[in-house]
Amino acid sequence: MNACPFCRIVAGEAPAEVLYRDDRVVAFQDSNPQAPVHFLVVPLEHIPSLAEVGDEHEEIVGHAVSVATTVARRQGIVERGFRLVVNCRRHGGQTIPHLHLHVLGGRQMTWPPG
Ligand code: 5GP
Ligand code: ZN
Repeated sequence: MNACPFCRIVAGEAPAEVLYRDDRVVAFQDSNPQAPVHFLVVPLEHIPSLAEVGDEHEEIVGHAVSVATTVARRQGIVERGFRLVVNCRRHGGQTIPHLHLHVLGGRQMTWPPG
């Protein structure tokens, strides 16, 4: 069995509430939402974190950002605005070592983040 939880979701070996899927990314609801709308956009390819992203990933990362906005629009959070977050490694607070974009909305966000 795949050790990576998000690879398992990508492979259909673990359940998720999928909002969008194409040949490069999948978007699904975060299982522990931090806002009224909180979903993740995950490349199908296992890239551990932003620290491993290079020129060869420009297309997939750009596509993931575009899908984040598309799904955010469907979720009705674009007009008021939303937050896109990518946690990277230990200081970034990353807990799942498979690159993912958090999209959070439906409430007022604060700054600075914790
Ligand atoms: P990180 O802390 O790595 O930036 O974010 C990981 C996110 O994935 C967390 O918000 C957490 O709630 C979510 N998460 C962890 N495991 C699962 C899972 O198995 N399914 C889903 N849908 N979300 C998960
Ligand atoms: Zn993975």
